[in-house]
Amino acid sequence: MGLKIYINGQILPEEDAKISVFDHGLLYGDGIFEGIRAYNGKIFTLQQHLDRLYDSANAISLKIPITKSEMADAIKKTMDANNMKDSYIRLVVTRGVGKLGLDPNKCSNPQIIIITDTIELYSKALYERGLDIVTVTTIRNHFSALDPKIKSLNYLNNILAKIESIHAGAGEALMLNKDGYVAECAGDNIFIFKNDTLLTPPPSAGILIGITRNVVMKLATQIGIQVKEELMTKCDLYAAEECFLTGTAAEIIPVVKIDGRIIGDGKPGKVTLDLLKKYRELTMKGF
Ligand code: PMP
Repeated sequence: MGLKIYINGQILPEEDAKISVFDHGLLYGDGIFEGIRAYNGKIFTLQQHLDRLYDSANAISLKIPITKSEMADAIKKTMDANNMKDSYIRLVVTRGVGKLGLDPNKCSNPQIIIITDTIELYSKALYERGLDIVTVTTIRNHFSALDPKIKSLNYLNNILAKIESIHAGAGEALMLNKDGYVAECAGDNIFIFKNDTLLTPPPSAGILIGITRNVVMKLATQIGIQVKEELMTKCDLYAAEECFLTGTAAEIIPVVKIDGRIIGDGKPGKVTLDLLKKYRELTMKGF
């Protein structure tokens, strides 16, 4: 049986869930989105995702026609229609249908789309073995061009990076910013552990401020690990004792090789695995 999709207040069978070819989301990548997880019927960090969605909308001068609480209800309604307890929720708001030409004022109504599906970014074996990642030549968008804080439908920057990592036979693409500092991976934030401290690039490095990143920083503090946001270079990563990536879909995935350099002893580190365990406990409990 196909999925039921929410579009602008209606729940439709997948085959009837259609958007116009004149939607500026398709024509120009003019829109925003969120990826959210539900565990055991509970939507994890929903408020944080809604806040980020509405902040992204504000940044691109897009007025979402419903309130955050109406959006939360719409998500729950879509989950119920699909009878799903564990799902990956894709929330999309496009600029809407308009004439050809960039002017967003020529668009009628923003389109709200909610898909509740499942996602598997990395295999179970990779969580046990750890990822091999490479630095790519595509730099992360400079914030003056397109701020990575905006989770926009314009993801080509990340896709170009991902293509490079695929061509290199690696599991993920590490992106630097224009000054050569580590920003993030194509679809995940990055952390290293060294000298009893957990380090991650600060927002000023030009990153999407990941919600999983924020949860992991809190969890680490709770278990007595010092956490710092610090600019770092590739070499800082090579010298790390542990490294992992965070994201809603990926959760916490260990990294064991970067640009051919073995990280730590080449196996997922203890702190990484402790944090993954804590993270999974939290997702089961609700947040
Ligand atoms: N960075 C980028 C570029 C992303 O697309 C994502 C989400 N897939 C993340 C980081 C992680 O963000 P979150 O933890 O909120 O899913």
